[in-house]
Amino acid sequence: MVRRVTEDEIKDAMFSIAGNKAPGPDGYTSVFFKKAWDVVGKDVCLAIQEFFQNGNVTFVLDRILQWNRKVHGSMNQMCCLLCYANLETHEHLFFQCSYSDKVWNLVRSKVGMNMVDERWDDIVEWLIPRAKSRAIRMVASRLVVAASAYGIWRERNARFFSNRVRPPEQISEIILDTVRTKLISFKFKANNDVRSFLEEWKIDGVEFFNED
Ligand SMILES: [Zn+2]
Repeated sequence: MVRRVTEDEIKDAMFSIAGNKAPGPDGYTSVFFKKAWDVVGKDVCLAIQEFFQNGNVTFVLDRILQWNRKVHGSMNQMCCLLCYANLETHEHLFFQCSYSDKVWNLVRSKVGMNMVDERWDDIVEWLIPRAKSRAIRMVASRLVVAASAYGIWRERNARFFSNRVRPPEQISEIILDTVRTKLISFKFKANNDVRSFLEEWKIDGVEFFNED
């Protein structure tokens, strides 16, 4: 079991981005995080903790909804900052928005979800029977969904707080890197499927369970 990440560690990591205005590795400035932290710090923290501990998608989404309500008030609908063509609702952002849909299309094939459309309900329906599976492809699919929701949400916030815009290709790369980093922290049985998956994803340095 991985040690639980503390709230302070997450806050420190967010604020330690070199320089005041220079964007960090994921393109966020510390100014962005400082602004965001005051409004939603606790929720960010809980969502990140949960995501990195368990890859728990619904928890992350629940936090995102709470965040939404805090920032805008529950009745207040605003225009989607990713496509500027629709109201920003939960269903729209994940992933019916044309921007989110592009991101989803770029990542879903990496985990065998090509046939799963961009509708959140369809994605959840696909995930539920696979929710407890320890197979590497199933673990990766849960991580891809959580990281996609989180990555799109962060892009939306970068636009909201910093007026910064990145293309879907860049977000999809960040999502896949996030999943890669997370997968390296797990242990898997060294079978052929695991080996071919790691090769497809160009992941080195995974620790394997001893064959029992
Ligand atoms: Zn949109």
